[in-house]
Amino acid sequence: MPGLFQAEGIVLKGRDYQETARLLTILTRSHGKIEAIVKGVRKPHSSLRSGTQQLCRSRFLFYAGKNLATVTQCEVQEIFAPLRQDLKRMARAYYLVEIADNVVMPGQVNQAMYLLLQQGLENLGELEPDLVCRAFEARTLKILGLEPCLDACAACQGTLAGCGRVAIAPAAGGALCPNCQGHQGREFLLSRGSLKTWQQLSRLHWQYLKRLQVSSPLMRELGEVMPAFLEYYLDRRLRSRAFINELGGDAIDRPGKN
Ligand SMILES: [Zn+2]
Repeated sequence: MPGLFQAEGIVLKGRDYQETARLLTILTRSHGKIEAIVKGVRKPHSSLRSGTQQLCRSRFLFYAGKNLATVTQCEVQEIFAPLRQDLKRMARAYYLVEIADNVVMPGQVNQAMYLLLQQGLENLGELEPDLVCRAFEARTLKILGLEPCLDACAACQGTLAGCGRVAIAPAAGGALCPNCQGHQGREFLLSRGSLKTWQQLSRLHWQYLKRLQVSSPLMRELGEVMPAFLEYYLDRRLRSRAFINELGGDAIDRPGKN
């Protein structure tokens, strides 16, 4: 419906449009994902320039046209400056943004995902970047109602007997006991430590994640399995992972064993 409306949002992506405009995808807190034109923003002195950069959190005043919205005013709230000075963190910020972009469907208001993205970008400037990615993945699965079953067998609800590694399969929705293994599509083997860490990443408040010590072997395991879960449910490859891998991959501190 045409008219003016205000919304707080994070700029997910943008591209040049016509002579001096840009076309943005903005995830708003109250109105879902919005495609909006910013007219004249590529002119040198445009007042809309700073608040419409990718990864900015701003307060926008939109005019809803028949097809596309137009940004008529914006006021920057947060530019996530620590991310912009560090390529590794920036690459992971693109990853979080790509996940949020894929999770929120057009026309859907998803305040939980908006707040997760805001918290993810804030913490990415401060915490160990891969820990933030794994926590973000775990919480995204929770928001989607797809938190994996890690305490018992996802197929038969039996106990995960033994003390060795545990099989886990996206198609089964979690861990598998020895009897149920081998029939649930792609399976991964995770150490007990990784299972426990996954649960902590999903549940602990961000301020406690600061104190969470995760060894590099566990981070490597989780760095393989958790994105695979998310890609399975989103039914797509997350392209920004390739950029993270080009910069040296998920594990910051590579050597070492349990
Ligand atoms: Zn079972």
